[in-house]
Amino acid sequence: MPEAERINGVIVRSTGSHYEVQTEDEERIPCRIRGKFRLEGWKLTNPVAVGDKVVIEKQKQDPIGQIVTIEKRRNYVARQSPRQKHGLHLMAANIDQAVLVTTFVQPTLKPGFIDRFLLMTQGHEIPVLIFINKCDLLTEDEEKQVRGLQNIYESIGYQTIAGSAESDVGVSELKSYLDGKITLFAGQSGVGKSTLLNALEPGLGLRTADISQRSGKGLHTTTNAEMFPWGDSGAVIDSPGIKNFSFNHFTAQDVAHNFREFFVLSKDCKFADCTHRNEPKCAVKKALEEGRVSALRYQHYLQILEEVEAQNAWDRPNL
Ligand code: GDP
Ligand code: ZN
Repeated sequence: MPEAERINGVIVRSTGSHYEVQTEDEERIPCRIRGKFRLEGWKLTNPVAVGDKVVIEKQKQDPIGQIVTIEKRRNYVARQSPRQKHGLHLMAANIDQAVLVTTFVQPTLKPGFIDRFLLMTQGHEIPVLIFINKCDLLTEDEEKQVRGLQNIYESIGYQTIAGSAESDVGVSELKSYLDGKITLFAGQSGVGKSTLLNALEPGLGLRTADISQRSGKGLHTTTNAEMFPWGDSGAVIDSPGIKNFSFNHFTAQDVAHNFREFFVLSKDCKFADCTHRNEPKCAVKKALEEGRVSALRYQHYLQILEEVEAQNAWDRPNL
């Protein structure tokens, strides 16, 4: 039996059961992985994510490699699996930043969707740029509302762009944000993420809803996460459309800690474990009353807390 060659690489494509690993020589090798994997005690529905650095073993005569080692992650983005309530799904690993593509209309922005995304990325303090797409469709009144949203997020340190992939508004500004970085692109399906990525880099040739409809392949656009090289040293990760986020793996304290502006204020709350609801001398509630905290963010925070507490009836695994 000839010895297997050991090769270092990065996961650039994932279907959940098959992976593609890009080696240092820019070769792409289809790979599999064996075994069960956990992340901080939670069962993972996908053991490796796009962006993971791995070591593979490969026999010369076998076109498929085996992933044998996953290197320690610098960071990751994970959410509760949409299919397995007790499982975590890794969206990407080892990223520098994320772009959340949303719309205000077509589709209508889901209340709390942005805040849920930011809750997911805040644990690793991943910078997020919020790109509000399809602004060519907005009425004057809606434009004002979008500006209001931008103010909320910019005031807590997130970059925002109100743009249009189709009318080429905000696209070059976004492009300069991507230079030299590994960027995760995420969003609900239909917001124009593929159109936007194609506008940024026509060479990507991602299928958009329009094109797939014409070719009769239905509305299914992105199905797998995939990493594309970007410029000299960067990369862009396109991820499947997100329907909704749940956070069963979070405690109420996790939620409180990951609303970044609440966390900053919380050192002035009377109780160290304040959840900023009915506790006396709560600095977050005070800031809310004085208009220094967004009422919209606070409302979404309460909703997420309630959900998390209702779900925490089942046991957390032993960590
Ligand atoms: P994805 O599911 O997020 O990848 O969305 P697609 O890129 O497939 O786009 C969904 C639909 O929105 C398509 O019909 C696009 O032509 C349309 N679309 C994308 N960007 C814009 C935009 O800036 N303005 C308008 N009006 N439509 C857009
Ligand atoms: Zn408080």
